[in-house]
Amino acid sequence: MAAFPKSKVDEYASACEGCTLETRADLEEFQLKRLNELLERVSGRGLYANYPSHLHSLADIANLPFTSESDIIEHPSQLGMVSQSQCVRVISDETSATTGKPKRIYYTQADRDRTARFFEIGLQELIEPGDFVMLGFPESGELGLTDLIEEACRRIGAMCYVAEDEACYAIDQMAMLSPSAYIGHPFHIAALLDGLATRGIAPTFTRTLISGDSCSSDLCEAVASAIGSYPFLHYGSREIGLAGAVSCHTRKGMHIRENDLLVEIVDETGNPLPDGEWGEIVITTLMQEAMPFVRYRTQDRGRILPQPCECSSVMKRLDDKIERM
Ligand SMILES: [Zn+2]
Repeated sequence: MAAFPKSKVDEYASACEGCTLETRADLEEFQLKRLNELLERVSGRGLYANYPSHLHSLADIANLPFTSESDIIEHPSQLGMVSQSQCVRVISDETSATTGKPKRIYYTQADRDRTARFFEIGLQELIEPGDFVMLGFPESGELGLTDLIEEACRRIGAMCYVAEDEACYAIDQMAMLSPSAYIGHPFHIAALLDGLATRGIAPTFTRTLISGDSCSSDLCEAVASAIGSYPFLHYGSREIGLAGAVSCHTRKGMHIRENDLLVEIVDETGNPLPDGEWGEIVITTLMQEAMPFVRYRTQDRGRILPQPCECSSVMKRLDDKIERM
């Protein structure tokens, strides 16, 4: 029997697919089927006009062109695969475009539901029914990240509240409400821990999940020393539907939701790298309906951990030291 409980990402995949993907061979066969369904759907359309509709193996994906942030900014209509009326949420990022054009990412209800399901199951690594959870994220708008996490906590049977941005107010709130767990952005928890240390107050929460940006080893250690347990980490981005990969109880890397995402690591010339080597994270969103990406260059530098996890999950892990390139 494994020393650690199996990652919740495996449970998420089973819940979505109605079957258990027990081995890498099962999972990769499943991914190839999904990839071909995606190619069938997008091939001949918009930016994917010249893409094939079928590949014989997962490795053949290396022959396809990449998509990039500038494709989203310059040709959004060529990446959308449903009508505007089928989209329930558009995230518009005005700041990322160097050209002054916004970067817009579209989701259908099904896209959003899949992310909500991932958060509901993934958060059960650390959230239990009856928990009271402090959320420390910047305002993300209706149907945004905070809304999704609030919904996930509710489904688990936990209550939550959105903490004040300013650490001094967040500390007063914490003292009043005594949250048992914390989910938030690294900047928020760093400021909160600083403020708590200055005022000589101990955190009331004993479990944390940090998401929204990469979390340094120093911050992870500071959290562990303040609350007595190492944080769980999550990797996601708007392009991949917000949810991507999350720590299991080993806290060694983050298991990728590989039933939904095909992750590659490539070198600076775009050649695929083996597991264990550092390069750019490239992601194909196998299940996104509104705006699926084939080989999206994330501009995040990372690697896939080469060994299977001690928790016995079939899902590969991203090293949690991810950096913007
Ligand atoms: Zn694991």
